[in-house]
Amino acid sequence: MDQDRDLVLGKTTVLMAENGGKYPDGNSLLVQGTEQTVLIDPSVGLVNRQHTLPRIDRVLHSHCHEDHFAGSFLFQEKPWHFHEYDAPSIKSLDALMEFYGYPAHIDKPWRQKVVADFNFTSCLHPVPFRDGDIFELGDCEIRVIHLPGHTPGHSAFHIFPDDVLYLGDIELSSFGPYYGDACSDLITFENSLRLVHDIPAKHYATFHHIGVLDRSNFEKRLRQFVEKIKSRESELLSFLSEPRTVDEVVDHRFVFRPGDELIYIDAVERYSMCQHIDRLVAVGKVCSTQDGRFMKIDPTS
Ligand SMILES: [Zn+2]
Repeated sequence: MDQDRDLVLGKTTVLMAENGGKYPDGNSLLVQGTEQTVLIDPSVGLVNRQHTLPRIDRVLHSHCHEDHFAGSFLFQEKPWHFHEYDAPSIKSLDALMEFYGYPAHIDKPWRQKVVADFNFTSCLHPVPFRDGDIFELGDCEIRVIHLPGHTPGHSAFHIFPDDVLYLGDIELSSFGPYYGDACSDLITFENSLRLVHDIPAKHYATFHHIGVLDRSNFEKRLRQFVEKIKSRESELLSFLSEPRTVDEVVDHRFVFRPGDELIYIDAVERYSMCQHIDRLVAVGKVCSTQDGRFMKIDPTS
């Protein structure tokens, strides 16, 4: 390895992305034991530095999203591991597209992009793992912690003895939690955020932006991350002071910024904010009108 910015934490090396981990790139992890070397979440940036990597024995994925397997094709002859709930989605492009669940006008350009820009390569026999599984690498090990919501199989990896907890896309950036695909689930994500808070570790590593945090900065970032969900919901509630259609909610953009340009933004806004609408309806803060709009219920009326 020849990259000055990489962070060595004992047996674990965080391969820091060139652009600071901004999507579509991210920080991959290399764990080198005396018997095996494992690569976690091979990012698109690894394509430019594959010659600097040691021999890899297996590839672990925190979940089945395009940016987390963009470098996996470099290791096609090695076992690819995914949580059992995400593993089916790497078997074909059609299966992956079902995971996102985008409408046809987004699905078509998106599947081209996943192949062209993220090197999608189907893996017919991914090796599934489950919560609590342990990968023994000789003098170190990787424990699987299932933290779903972002995707059904999204998992963290706790590496010992380095005590590095790799959080995947519980990425703790100011963007906030992402639960905007057909396979995502807001409530499950919130449960995972409560769970991860109670996992002590010396180092916390994420795929995007943040890199590595100590416990106190992890706690601070996690609080802000959780707050982001609440602020999206309270902003939505204010927006629904007037009756609004779902299309108006989508156009308003509660997740992405108005200037952001990605082909799937409308679909992600819809999946994300419909979950908030459903919750607000369920707790009696929002009602639907006869013409199919949603409106805040005034508690004083
Ligand atoms: Zn993801």
